[in-house]
Amino acid sequence: MKKQILAFLLSGVIFFNIPIHSMATTIVNSNTNTDWDAWERSLITGTRKLARWSYTSMTTQILGISQNVAIMFGSVTGYQFVATRVVIFLYLQQRVDGEWETILGTMKSFDDYHGSYEFQTDPELDYIYPGCYQEEAHYYVYSGDQYEYIEAYTITYHYMCGCNPES
Ligand SMILES: [Zn+2]
Repeated sequence: MKKQILAFLLSGVIFFNIPIHSMATTIVNSNTNTDWDAWERSLITGTRKLARWSYTSMTTQILGISQNVAIMFGSVTGYQFVATRVVIFLYLQQRVDGEWETILGTMKSFDDYHGSYEFQTDPELDYIYPGCYQEEAHYYVYSGDQYEYIEAYTITYHYMCGCNPES
């Protein structure tokens, strides 16, 4: 009997967890001709607050590439009871003719004070060629309809690029 009650309670926990996680929205854009600033603006609502780090406590961004697949990671933590929503944009950029060119952009939003997003490129659609790459992350941390905006970059990832990473 006790076991049945425990099973019932556990199923309740799982049930109530589902709607919370399903509030996250994901969008991927791998069209290289995209106006990325316009694309990002079209997905953002609310008003920007110029002060930084009053809603946000920390961010982390990581890029790794292996076997022609790039794995991008971005994480943002706002202050609990202050931050109500977070939006993460991750851009994969390749060094082309001395400039960073965005080859893929993706966004995920969370109705929560923190969020973590890991995105893996599709080896069929977004084949990653040898080269020098970085990830640019944009974080929007909302308190109501006001947000603060934070931009962060990874260090350059040298994927069989033939350059000298030490120089
Ligand atoms: Zn390189």
